[in-house]
Amino acid sequence: MAARGPGRPRFGIPCYVCGERRNIQQMRHIHGDHATEEVREISIFRRHEFNADPLVINNETRICFRCSNSIRDEIAILQANPMAMRVNGLKQTRNNTCFLCNAVGDLHRLSIECKVEVFIQCNIFFPETVRSCAQHLDRRGHLLLILLADLQSINRPYIIPGQYLQRLMQAMRDCSLQRRRIDDIEDLSDDQELVLTSFTKQ
Ligand SMILES: [Zn+2]
Ligand SMILES: [Zn+2]
Repeated sequence: MAARGPGRPRFGIPCYVCGERRNIQQMRHIHGDHATEEVREISIFRRHEFNADPLVINNETRICFRCSNSIRDEIAILQANPMAMRVNGLKQTRNNTCFLCNAVGDLHRLSIECKVEVFIQCNIFFPETVRSCAQHLDRRGHLLLILLADLQSINRPYIIPGQYLQRLMQAMRDCSLQRRRIDDIEDLSDDQELVLTSFTKQ
């Protein structure tokens, strides 16, 4: 409704998701016939991602057009693509520059091992095409540890190409097996380790 309710601040009302204040005409209801259960669920999830306190949704709750359109886009992608899955994807400003500093020269596509490491450490999915400058990588081609804390992600649907998914799964398996071998050695008693290491030296 265009009419402003009694007692409502003149400068608009906050979006339930992003918190930006807008005129009520630029907001959509989140509750009732206009919104599906899915819109509500995604709104709650996104509000959490904005680090806002939980808030009960009622008849007055509204979201801005930008959040509303973005949520509807997400639902449409998932409905149109049964292969799409929602993951915490890397937040990038552009997709043809270094994802950290936006430089354009001397870029390296990140190795699959590097992406698996970030996924394990930070739960952030890197699309196949992500590239960075050499200066952000260590000698193995992994991102410098100090950079991991600043990576930002956004939870949205992705269609992960099958071959890429297969390579990721293989690299995760390799990584897990490598760690298990290290754990296995650490689990051995001194006697067992002596037998094993003398055996492998032969
Ligand atoms: Zn919003
Ligand atoms: Zn860079």
